[in-house]
Amino acid sequence: MCTNSTRYLSFLPAPKRPPLDAEAQLGMEAALNIARQGEAAGEVPVGAAVVVDGNVIAVAHNETVRGKDLTQHAELLAMRRAMRELDSDRLDSALLCVTLEPCAQCAGAIVLARVGRVVFGAYDPKAGMAGSVGDLLRHPQLNHRAQVMGGAMESECGRLLVDFFRKRR
Ligand code: ZN
Repeated sequence: MCTNSTRYLSFLPAPKRPPLDAEAQLGMEAALNIARQGEAAGEVPVGAAVVVDGNVIAVAHNETVRGKDLTQHAELLAMRRAMRELDSDRLDSALLCVTLEPCAQCAGAIVLARVGRVVFGAYDPKAGMAGSVGDLLRHPQLNHRAQVMGGAMESECGRLLVDFFRKRR
């Protein structure tokens, strides 16, 4: 009989994340697809999709290599495309899905564009500003707070990045 409760607990399955709603599922699949296209084009495989009223209205992958510009992150490009598509300077009715936790730059842009909801895949312990390093998306002193969920399709999203960097070594 195991009397060590911690050891016993380690045999229990990992906590299950709540299932994704249909919009988040759609957006995360689109984000993963475009991330794979980015990888085929020689970019770091991060992808983003903007969903409004159940439709994907914009997608983007990182373009830091092609653009020779380290600010060209997937979610920033997808937000810009979505605002052009909607002919609007705000995305309060939008869901932004991204395969990697947003960095400080992108989290700042999410707040400025007033994105309603953000769902992301892999956590980024070194740069993530949606809970890992800090939390700009839900900062109590900022004038906009998005609804946030991390860890969506986390293993697929993380696997893309891990495999990509392993191949490059
Ligand atoms: Zn970023």
